[in-house]
Amino acid sequence: MAYSTPRKFALLLALWVSVTVAVVVTITSFVAAGEAIWWVPVASFTTTFVLTYFLAAYAVERFIYDKIKVIYKLIHSQKVKKEDKTKPSIDLDRDIITEVDSEVAEWANERDKEIEYLRNLENYRKEFVGNVSHELKTPIFNIQGYVLTLLDGGLEDPTINRNYLQRAESSIERMINIVQDLESISQFESGQLILDIERADIVRLATDVIHALELKAKKKGIKLVLKEEYDPIYVMVDGDRIKQLFTNLIENSIKYGKPNGRTKISFFDMDQNILVEVTDDGIGIEEKHLSRLFERFYRVDKSRSREAGGTGLGLSIVKHIIEAHNQTITVRSTPGVGSTFGITLKKVKPNQVIS
Ligand code: ADP
Repeated sequence: MAYSTPRKFALLLALWVSVTVAVVVTITSFVAAGEAIWWVPVASFTTTFVLTYFLAAYAVERFIYDKIKVIYKLIHSQKVKKEDKTKPSIDLDRDIITEVDSEVAEWANERDKEIEYLRNLENYRKEFVGNVSHELKTPIFNIQGYVLTLLDGGLEDPTINRNYLQRAESSIERMINIVQDLESISQFESGQLILDIERADIVRLATDVIHALELKAKKKGIKLVLKEEYDPIYVMVDGDRIKQLFTNLIENSIKYGKPNGRTKISFFDMDQNILVEVTDDGIGIEEKHLSRLFERFYRVDKSRSREAGGTGLGLSIVKHIIEAHNQTITVRSTPGVGSTFGITLKKVKPNQVIS
């Protein structure tokens, strides 16, 4: 475009004005002097051209600078430096208007994305607060019910007093579980949690968790086993977090396992990584639920989960732990047959030096 840069605009304007002035001055001098003076058009053209060019360039520069300064201040939240206020610094050979136009469009685009992100965050926050209060309501009302019954004379009734206190205690335990899980989630989501990555024997970590949960599993007649005897397998992980992950997966296999079933842990070598699978022969999960399983508070069967003391947060914590390790988790399941949760972990090479 002819006026695409400030310099081109000033040059064109100067040309138009100086041609007009030269013509007018030449005609006037011709009429006044009665003859043509050769230097009049040359001198008037040159003088007007130079003057108009510099004046126009300065005016355009000043004008654009004043307008652009406001736009830039707005879009980049920039403060214009003191020296810039008195001395505009516009490159006259750049197509500034088009550049500003595209920068503003880009800025508007970014703002749109930011607004969308904030809207999602706001929805998530509302949903989250709603879910948390809903989860806490049940145990709180239960506790209130038991305490009121005890106060209304139940305390003196030996057939119910101990039983109601035990029920109140299990509701309190449920609340503690919810709060602890919420704490873990909030630590992960706020980025406060820094992993303590070390070389650790994953077989040992899994065995420790199996021992810790053996009693719980026994109550349902479920056996917790390693697929075979393994030599130590070293991985780079935060041991405590991986234990928390195993605990959640194995506890689920007990909660949703069939009585007298079996939970099996297997390890597979995958070159750079180790694949760990936790397999149960429990109730399984329908395909349609699998993609949402790791969402907070997502449950396939709400009443079964609550009955089993589930918070609906276990798998989302597992996902956070795995993502913090930059690894992946997958799930395969067949209703009535069982489920397999697989995670990958970074292997330590046999002669790797640990810094
Ligand atoms: P919860 O505290 O309810 O167990 P989780 O986040 O750990 O929450 O799991 C989400 C849901 O996924 C559970 O409510 C359950 O329906 C389903 N689920 C998880 N693990 C298993 C499993 N091993 N077998 C069958 N269903 C499972």
